[in-house]
Amino acid sequence: ASNEDKQSTKSPPAPSPLRTAKFCQSNMRILVTGGAGFIGSHLVDRLMQNEKNEVIVVDNYFTGSKDNLRRWIGHPRFELIRHDVTQPLLVEVDQIYHLACPASPIFYKHNAVKTIKTNVMGTLNMLGLAKRVGARILLTSTSEVYGDPLIHPQPETYWGNVNPIGVRSCYDEGKRVAETLMFDYHRQHGIEIRVARIFNTYGPRMNIDDGRVVSNFIAQALRNEPLTVQAPGTQTRSFCYVADMVWEFTMVELAETVKELINPDVKIVTVENTPDDPRQRKPDITKAKELLGWEPKIKLREGLPLMEEDFRQRLGVPKN
Ligand code: NAD
Ligand code: UDP
Ligand code: UDP
Repeated sequence: ASNEDKQSTKSPPAPSPLRTAKFCQSNMRILVTGGAGFIGSHLVDRLMQNEKNEVIVVDNYFTGSKDNLRRWIGHPRFELIRHDVTQPLLVEVDQIYHLACPASPIFYKHNAVKTIKTNVMGTLNMLGLAKRVGARILLTSTSEVYGDPLIHPQPETYWGNVNPIGVRSCYDEGKRVAETLMFDYHRQHGIEIRVARIFNTYGPRMNIDDGRVVSNFIAQALRNEPLTVQAPGTQTRSFCYVADMVWEFTMVELAETVKELINPDVKIVTVENTPDDPRQRKPDITKAKELLGWEPKIKLREGLPLMEEDFRQRLGVPKN
């Protein structure tokens, strides 16, 4: 955070002696909110690989489960706290990965007011915490901030086309406010921030029945039920294997790939869609390539079988 950006006289607090001592040994205490969820639990696996990291997960188990973290429960560098991020939280950490928020439409619409509270009050609390302890904080935002985009592919500079009063607004407007809070805490309090706008991610540990398209198609193919393509089927998403991403497909193409790879006998049917469904979506990843040297490695055809194995186990459908 640059000092020029600061608009208030408040400066970020000096790190406490305890944390400075820890920092000298280059140990990191890291908070992961929503760490019992799909992406969060993979992030925890990655963070725990570094022996200098201590990881604290905070989760209310609304859509996540302890099972996703079972390999770490009892580990001396790991701690799991049942907590709702809409309530204040007191912990001492060096970094915060703030993921807590239901991500699948059926869950985030289930209690829309709670979803927006999680996005707004949850992010405010994590920023208050970051400010108090001087921690760097990352928000997992979403491609949904672009709404039904009028620019394709979407660069970070695009402001989006979002319905403020629709059934998705609790999620996409919620994330937009969360982003605003992040940037205001940065400008006003000098907090070091990161905002990642994640596009549709798939992989092992996705909720089997959470209604998202990749988990639906794979579970349907394994249960020998028709793959439900919501009309018109030409809407696109850019899928990201949980370890990376980005390939743009229509839903019909995705259904055909799942059919070919997992169950050639399964039928594909067209069903009614939900309101405000974005027609196309693809990130412009030029900046991430240039600044972070990041680019996707796992193609959809490689990623789907990795997810199939996990779903077979959990659904009890052995491979012939
Ligand atoms: P998920 O539902 O598997 O994980 C979310 C986790 O947050 C769950 O463990 C849930 O129990 C927890 N949680 C929800 N509300 C909470 C609250 N009030 N207090 C504490 N914990 C709470 O979803 P995911 O796919 O792993 O998504 C993680 C993050 O990534 C979310 O912020 C989501 O918006 C973002 N994201 C995901 C995708 C995707 O395709 N999966 C795309 C864009 C953004
Ligand atoms: N907060 C928190 N943990 C902390 C510090 C703050 O949960 O360690 C919460 C606090 O309860 C408040 C929010 O974060 O609701 C914003 O805190 P901040 O100090 O920025 O604002 P203020 O408390 O002055 O409104
Ligand atoms: N979709 C589909 N069949 C399903 C579930 C979803 O065709 O069984 C479509 C949906 O209409 C949307 C796309 O898949 O166009 C992605 O939907 P999802 O809920 O996975 O994510 P989001 O809409 O949040 O990107």
